Amino acid sequence: MTTLTLVRGDITRQSVDAIVNAANSSLLGGGGVDGAVHRRGGPAILAECRALRASRYGEGLPTGRAVATTAGELDARWVIHTVGPVWSAQEDRSGLLASCYRESLRVADELGARTVAFPAISTGIYGWPMDDGARIAVETVRDADTAVEEIRFVLFDERAYEAFAARMR
Ligand code: ADP
Repeated sequence: MTTLTLVRGDITRQSVDAIVNAANSSLLGGGGVDGAVHRRGGPAILAECRALRASRYGEGLPTGRAVATTAGELDARWVIHTVGPVWSAQEDRSGLLASCYRESLRVADELGARTVAFPAISTGIYGWPMDDGARIAVETVRDADTAVEEIRFVLFDERAYEAFAARMR
């Protein structure tokens, strides 16, 4: 049984087995969630990301995929880095956004993580409309076949929280 929970807060302050990072394909850090993860988590995470780039993802981590590192100084065991799609009005990229949630949970299952915290992937710098981002997030994790016991959405502001709350009702 998987429980979905919703909190308003900062994803880098969650005590969970794994937090999901809204990364970019370079794996070398950026703004938003990514910046906060590396700032608070310290240099160990970036060092592992660099090693992943050198070994497996020389061309970058593809959009919709996920990969784990340890969590440095965060109160979590792992960071699962996933690359959301940039919003496009011309092209339907919702499959890629759903894939971020699904692949992150698959990686969480491989790790044996029982509690996983997600941000609202792609809804910041990548411009995805919040209501639609919330719909895809909630529908995808609800349908996922996973051993994760708690999936926690961590929303940064009231608007995001309300969008997710409306989808969970
Ligand atoms: P993306 O590039 O995938 O759009 P962002 O990190 O820019 O990723 O934003 C994703 C969402 O996470 C946005 O809704 C943003 O407001 C929110 N956000 C930014 N910082 C944090 C944080 N520290 N904890 C939780 N959510 C955050």
